[in-house]
Amino acid sequence: LVRIAGLHKSFGALDVLKGIDLDVRPGEKVSIIGPSGSGKTTMLRCVNFIERPTRGQIHIDGELLGQKRVGEALVDVDDRTLARQRAGIGMVFQRFNLFPHLSVLRNVTVGPIKVGRVPAAEAEARALDLLDKVGLASKRDSYPEQLSGGQQQRVAIARALAMRPKLMLFDEATSALDPELVGEVLGVMAGLAAEGMTMMIVTHEMQFAEDVSDRVVFMDGGVVVEEGPPARLFHAPEHPRTRAFLSAVL
Ligand code: ATP
Repeated sequence: LVRIAGLHKSFGALDVLKGIDLDVRPGEKVSIIGPSGSGKTTMLRCVNFIERPTRGQIHIDGELLGQKRVGEALVDVDDRTLARQRAGIGMVFQRFNLFPHLSVLRNVTVGPIKVGRVPAAEAEARALDLLDKVGLASKRDSYPEQLSGGQQQRVAIARALAMRPKLMLFDEATSALDPELVGEVLGVMAGLAAEGMTMMIVTHEMQFAEDVSDRVVFMDGGVVVEEGPPARLFHAPEHPRTRAFLSAVL
């Protein structure tokens, strides 16, 4: 479903991603772990073209993301094409990024109505189903500031799902939460995983990564150092850098 090939990203003179190759199959859950500054977030943002790769390509479902070939060159696609491509990719950020002036229900319906051209009544029915699924149907008329961080993050997940994405990206979705609120968000994510959603998850929650992932990717210094099934990566890492990282965090 996702094919990342030769991905490089620099910010000025700072080379953050130095050649990432990574494929994600339909239905697969891939966790990305690694030290702070290793480029995990930047990689995930490239998969949504929030960051434009400096070099390399990302294909989603066989389609080149954000760019097209014109002769030998790659040029950016127009905004409409990018919006269509992005509609298939849900992203949940560390900060909840809800629209503060919209109710919970409107936060979840606005994307389908405005971008997906879904009729309002249908968008609302779909939103209520999703809010039910994340345990927040009773909060439909509340505003984001009236919710806890964990509730806001669950609304953010419902909002992303409302676009019926084929891929969900989670960027440290629980890092900004009080410890007692982490579990409810991880629970929603685990439920989504069990339903077969394709997921790329940047996380510091090692136990969650071990429980939910099909594959864990360890990044350091802008490259993938090692990847494998969670049992092997966590309990029998091959690379010294993976071992050093795990012994520091576990
Ligand atoms: P963390 O776990 O702390 O979030 P990370 O592995 O996700 O770390 P990134 O957020 O991808 O790391 O950042 C990698 C490096 O890129 C950092 O040195 C960061 O300062 C730098 N960086 C990220 N975004 C930008 C930007 N927009 N402009 C300049 N530098 C950036």
